[in-house]
Amino acid sequence: MERPFTFWRVLPLVGEPAHSYFSRLVLDECWHSPRQYAKDIGISADAFSPAELLDRILRLPIPSGDKARLHLWTPLDAGGGVVLAGQNLSDRHFRWSRRLHCPQCRNAVPYHRVWWHLECFRNCPIHRRPLVPVQQPYVSGRWWPKFEKSTRERAPEVCVDGDTDVIESFVIRCLLEPGTLPYDRYLADFIDCSEFLGRLLNNPRQHAVPPFSAMDLQTGYAALKDGCKSVAGHVSSWLDANPVFPMALTVRQLLGWAAEYLVSDDEGLDPVLDDPSNPLLVAVSEMIRAECGRILRR
Ligand SMILES: [Zn+2]
Repeated sequence: MERPFTFWRVLPLVGEPAHSYFSRLVLDECWHSPRQYAKDIGISADAFSPAELLDRILRLPIPSGDKARLHLWTPLDAGGGVVLAGQNLSDRHFRWSRRLHCPQCRNAVPYHRVWWHLECFRNCPIHRRPLVPVQQPYVSGRWWPKFEKSTRERAPEVCVDGDTDVIESFVIRCLLEPGTLPYDRYLADFIDCSEFLGRLLNNPRQHAVPPFSAMDLQTGYAALKDGCKSVAGHVSSWLDANPVFPMALTVRQLLGWAAEYLVSDDEGLDPVLDDPSNPLLVAVSEMIRAECGRILRR
């Protein structure tokens, strides 16, 4: 089978998906745009398939460890979402069209970090700056990152330091240690649960769902990161801060909108129509109900 490149002096890096590596290989090869190069070798340039990219790139005689790394960090299309580092992420969590990056990361080592495609990822935990829009002509949908220079660096470490413990550093840690998460939807479930819990804790009680705030994810993460048990304390404080006069008779009166989002075990779920149940959200819902129960019994 024909090799797609004549050089493979650049090698895949930590957190680098196939479309970034492909772009760097092109830059090292010639001055073509990655899009044009893809077209020239018969890859659909506008809606590239990561599996097809991998298939081409893996024809290069690069070390097997590098091949495995590239495979791990390339999101593969699956059932309306992707599988990334062994985790299933829906298109709510992972967006191919997301065009944000951290310029400081790129200045340090120019490659595209795959976690920038995650919707929950707003700040770079390494540089403590918000991600910013990518400055390059806009193409809708999937796009090719472009780099100013090709790095020959070998696998730089990605260090997420301990004192910026935010949801973004948690996400990177999870992805860096595939196989340590309890199940393959855990990351997505954790993010959803953080968002729900944070939105409850960050707002006074209200009837309608409050608008999204990026702080919700951080608040939810802080409440959840040590496990579900600490949720009870946070919810109890919130209930104390949001008393109902003269007295509440139902969970709905205590929680407002959030009562509608509590879930219980998946009995009666339609496996085709309903999303699979989120065990973390089930556990958190039980905690919240228990805290409400303590007040309702008074
Ligand atoms: Zn950064």
